[in-house]
Amino acid sequence: MYYFDPHIHMVSRTTDDYETLARMGCIGMSEPAFWAGFDRGSVDSFRDYFSQLTDFERNRAGQYGITHFTWLCINAKEAENVELSREVIKMIPEFLDISNVLGIGEIGLNKNSRNECIIFEEHIELALKHDLPILIHTPHLEDKYQGTRMILDMLCNESKLARDHVLVDHVEEHTIQPVLEKGFWAGMTLYPVSKCTPARACDMVEQFGPEKLLVNSAGDWGPSKPTAVPDFIMEMRRRGHPESLIRKMVYENPIEFFSQSRNFKFTPPDVLPAV
Ligand SMILES: [Zn+2]
Repeated sequence: MYYFDPHIHMVSRTTDDYETLARMGCIGMSEPAFWAGFDRGSVDSFRDYFSQLTDFERNRAGQYGITHFTWLCINAKEAENVELSREVIKMIPEFLDISNVLGIGEIGLNKNSRNECIIFEEHIELALKHDLPILIHTPHLEDKYQGTRMILDMLCNESKLARDHVLVDHVEEHTIQPVLEKGFWAGMTLYPVSKCTPARACDMVEQFGPEKLLVNSAGDWGPSKPTAVPDFIMEMRRRGHPESLIRKMVYENPIEFFSQSRNFKFTPPDVLPAV
């Protein structure tokens, strides 16, 4: 089955991973800007990173028949540096007309600090000004519930924001419901050690239905599995779910969400479906 991985950090993966993903049916992906494993010291570091995301990574994916999209921002960890964050936010529009840039992301909270909130809201203003969708990171483990509530409050205070233009990612059993109820998209991240397993993701599809719900690997340089979406497909099949439901989750839903970006142009491959 063809699928999209709506959240994966290919800058930290090898070319062999692209080949493996292509063999497993991956034909499209989106890569949000994230933390590099160290704090960058200047706005030029971000400019170089955004060039990598909009040029080099897109070409590397294209060699394996994978259409690569990206989201730009300064991530929540580095948002603690308000001065640098504002320089990055000011620089981002240089890249917004490039054809694989879908929107602003992954913004969000990490330790739920005041500075993170300030920069989160300034990113929202940037997205509104340029009429772009938003991809949001919710914090890890013990900070997740509180951080998700803070994020939803900030989003709901923004009356000009179209809620279906926003994806709130890394939801788990205790955060998915308020995200969907308030009209946002929700993303489930399949991680081997934290976040969600394929079985837990299937449970959530069964409980909440497939509308406005996405599934991703968030593969990066840490413990993660870039082929986690095919694991989800297998688990859904094992439980006897119809192919149409699985296809909606891993193919039609990402396309529906991404289509809200003016830069999303995607041609489905006109060949027989992969196995
Ligand atoms: Zn991420």
